[in-house]
Amino acid sequence: MRFDTVIIGGGLSSLVCGIRLQKAGRKCLIVSSGQNALHFSSGTFGLLSRLPDGTPVDRPLKAMEELPSGHPYSKIGIDAVRSYLAQVPPFFKDCGIELYHGADEEANGYRMTPSGSLKPAWFSLTDNTLNSSADVRFEGKALIVNFAGFLDFNTSFVAAGFEKRGASCRIETVRHPAVERLRVNPSEMRSVNIARVMDREDNWKQFVNLVKEKMHGEEMVILPEVFGFGNPSVMLWICEMIPAKVIFVGTMPPSVPGMRAQLLLKKAFEEAGGTFLPGDEAVSAEVEDGRISCIRTANLGKVRLESDCFVLASGNLFGKGLVTTPERVYEPVFGLDVEYPSDRTLWYDSDFSSRQEYLGFGVRTDSSFRALRGGEVVPNLFVIGSELAGCNTLAEGSGAMVAILSALKVSDQILQ
Ligand SMILES: Cc1cc2nc3c(=O)[nH]c(=O)nc-3n(C[C@H](O)[C@H](O)[C@H](O)COP(=O)(O)OP(=O)(O)OC[C@H]3O[C@@H](n4cnc5c(N)ncnc54)[C@H](O)[C@@H]3O)c2cc1C
Repeated sequence: MRFDTVIIGGGLSSLVCGIRLQKAGRKCLIVSSGQNALHFSSGTFGLLSRLPDGTPVDRPLKAMEELPSGHPYSKIGIDAVRSYLAQVPPFFKDCGIELYHGADEEANGYRMTPSGSLKPAWFSLTDNTLNSSADVRFEGKALIVNFAGFLDFNTSFVAAGFEKRGASCRIETVRHPAVERLRVNPSEMRSVNIARVMDREDNWKQFVNLVKEKMHGEEMVILPEVFGFGNPSVMLWICEMIPAKVIFVGTMPPSVPGMRAQLLLKKAFEEAGGTFLPGDEAVSAEVEDGRISCIRTANLGKVRLESDCFVLASGNLFGKGLVTTPERVYEPVFGLDVEYPSDRTLWYDSDFSSRQEYLGFGVRTDSSFRALRGGEVVPNLFVIGSELAGCNTLAEGSGAMVAILSALKVSDQILQ
């Protein structure tokens, strides 16, 4: 089987690249072995919230000037980063996904996390409210409402986060008949299952009525992000129906906004004519004269998936785009050069909350994101997203935007 471009990985970077190429008329195949980081996402997209030395960043575009030359943003170039950033909201809107930026054009916004802290982000999906500053105050009375028995929304942590910033919080639980049916099996009480139930108009309207019954003149109502899975407008309607400012706060994974975004991106890719191969894994590649000629997958066996151009978007250790043994770290499909310290004691810090070096391991590329293999550039193999060397996206808070911007940059190069 022959395609114009074959992309390995089914996460954010792969889908953005695939949609861009497919819409420009290139016949694309995406091979995706499993769940991706969007399933665990906060529902916000980080651009840059810390420099590699740990310095906090409030104005990412300015701070990017300090990044080393091997960082993906430095390879894209700061002017190009600006230009791509402007293209991101319309790109996602075309896929049915609204993205919001904080109030200040040049600065990070701040979202309330499920643990009650404020974390920087550049864009948010409809579900999240981005506050314009880390010093935001929430003066007034707030009612935090949870479903009885839903343990992945810790109301005490959320209350502590709001109270620290001026609010006076009251916590209530509601027993919604449709959600009570899920409780028969406690393992069903997960965010996405509740969200599926809340997709029915009669169910979410009944929930709104239950919330209103619990209200005693509060100025704010805080709800878990389990609404609008099928149609994000539901969140806007809930905001209109509740006589207070409604703030949605993330739950523990799985992430309803992240999974919705993944489904909508996949739909956009397929509607543009792309072929998405789910539940299959690229396992090997053939190299001819230094170029990749085809890949093979676990399910298709001997079938050659041929193309002039391949994109590796397999997502680092988390996505199994990299594999570790006690001795080494390797990229399993193409045998590419991986950047990691040879001294294994530097791979991780036993303090869980510290910067973890293993999250910065990645595939080496040239300045155009073409992969290196044995020190040589592979001219028809590009690398995008968290598989890239040169950044520790979790420590820097840059994960989603490195994925999106590297995908846009590489797709433009392929189109040229
Ligand atoms: C748990 C978690 C939560 C995160 N939350 C956020 C957040 O809230 N905001 C933010 O900005 N960033 C977040 N990030 C950072 C994240 O890296 C990016 O947001 C981004 O989603 C990464 O996308 P990606 O496409 O590079 O990789 P991934 O999303 O990891 O996708 C890689 C995909 O490749 C597939 N794959 C791997 N090997 C193969 C193979 N051989 N064949 C076929 N498929 C293969 C995997 O199954 C997976 O589907 C988070 C990261 C993690 C790990």
